Amino acid sequence: MRDHFEVRAQDAGGRIGDLTVPRAGVTVETPTLMPVVNPNIITVDPARFREFGAEILITNSYIIKNDADLRERALDEGLHGMLDFDGAIMTDSGSFQLAEYGEIDTDTEEILEFQHAIGSDIGTPVDIPTPPDVPRERAEEELEETQRRLELAETVETGEMLVNAPVQGSTYPDLREAAGRHAEHTSLDVFPVGAVVPLMNDYRYGEMADVVAAAKRGLGRDAPVHLFGAGHPMMFALAAALGCDLFDSAAYALYARDGRYLTVHGTEHLDSLQYFPCGCPVCTDHTPDDVQRMPDAAQEELLAEHNLHVSFTELRRVKQAIRQGSLLELVEARAHAHPRVLDGYRAFLDHAGQYEQSDPVSKDTFYYTSPESARRPEVVRHRERLDRFSLPETVLLAESGTDDDFDETWRVRPPLGPYPRELATSYPFTAEVPERMDDAGYEAAAKGVSRLVALNPDTEFTLAHRDWPARALDYVPPRVELVNLETGHTTASGAEDDA
Ligand SMILES: [Zn+2]
Repeated sequence: MRDHFEVRAQDAGGRIGDLTVPRAGVTVETPTLMPVVNPNIITVDPARFREFGAEILITNSYIIKNDADLRERALDEGLHGMLDFDGAIMTDSGSFQLAEYGEIDTDTEEILEFQHAIGSDIGTPVDIPTPPDVPRERAEEELEETQRRLELAETVETGEMLVNAPVQGSTYPDLREAAGRHAEHTSLDVFPVGAVVPLMNDYRYGEMADVVAAAKRGLGRDAPVHLFGAGHPMMFALAAALGCDLFDSAAYALYARDGRYLTVHGTEHLDSLQYFPCGCPVCTDHTPDDVQRMPDAAQEELLAEHNLHVSFTELRRVKQAIRQGSLLELVEARAHAHPRVLDGYRAFLDHAGQYEQSDPVSKDTFYYTSPESARRPEVVRHRERLDRFSLPETVLLAESGTDDDFDETWRVRPPLGPYPRELATSYPFTAEVPERMDDAGYEAAAKGVSRLVALNPDTEFTLAHRDWPARALDYVPPRVELVNLETGHTTASGAEDDA
């Protein structure tokens, strides 16, 4: 058990958590976003971060250590005094510089002691951030080295400072899972999924989702997970659903420097905006035209402020959705605004069985909003659990009505498939589904029928459906009698016609 992290509410893989940061004397509610502060280039004064909702920031101890002035100030005033920020402060170690420049002049022991000396609340060892797509041998060797450094980090005297245990392994899911399991068994505290920035920069959200799902399989449920480098609000809902608790944003400042304006659907350029599609103070007090005519520094600061506002607003939306049990509806909405986020959501659904285990059994209404909804963890779980029922000799599976000629009548509805009528008022069978169902929904229901029939070889089944398409009926075993409620037509199952 990790007593500094407590999960308060859960939806899919997403959770509301309390991360207690003892050295800062604060408890941070997750999921949260840590604005990245480059101590050499302050775009928005950290003293103002609370205005946006930031409870924790991240800065780079390696940059501070290698700059004589900054080092002296940090050792003298402490990080909180130097940055004028009273929340929690996480520090990075120089691993990013190692990945960028190939070498750095520090090691795990020295940099952890330095982070402790300047008053960091969460420190980081020097792990090896192995990029995506490298040969397996390299990923394995570098992971072994990272693991040695995590074990070394356990031995460094760091008082109350929490310590990160980065999870590496490149784009190899089995290595990420093994890395998660190894990190879980150290005494370290917070678990960044590392070196995913190249995937996110290229919008490879599908592979990012596979990497995170793999790391999560190795990590325990009470391990706080940081998606290192995740700063675009368009993917916060997806990343939260995958089980990430901490994000960090350098994007708010870097994008502002290039005149880029973040939205939950993607990135806009200030030059292409006639209106600000946002209700934050920056966007209600100014027009794009006003901001374009400002000097560069003022323009950059306002864009950075908007970027922070839109990011924290999306985080609050994610948290509210987790509380309500509607996180996957939010993920679907984001996924259907951007094809790459859709890739990420489809990859998440490939792991629906994994995420089904943490999904609450009861929550708000299930909204079916796209063919992807047919693959949600709730649908997978119900189909899995059909083995809990014992059935009589004859059963009618009907979209509506009952028939006393049968021993029992069950309801059947796309996408959930067959279920006992007494469950009709409980989650997820209260699902709101479109009048014009798609093939994926019918097929999911037919697969449920198929599983129920296979589980009950001695029961005779009749399926009374409302004009299901042939593609769906193909999944129904031939021994099921079919009645089309729309046409009154009775046939053997479609599977026989195909044979
Ligand atoms: Zn705005």
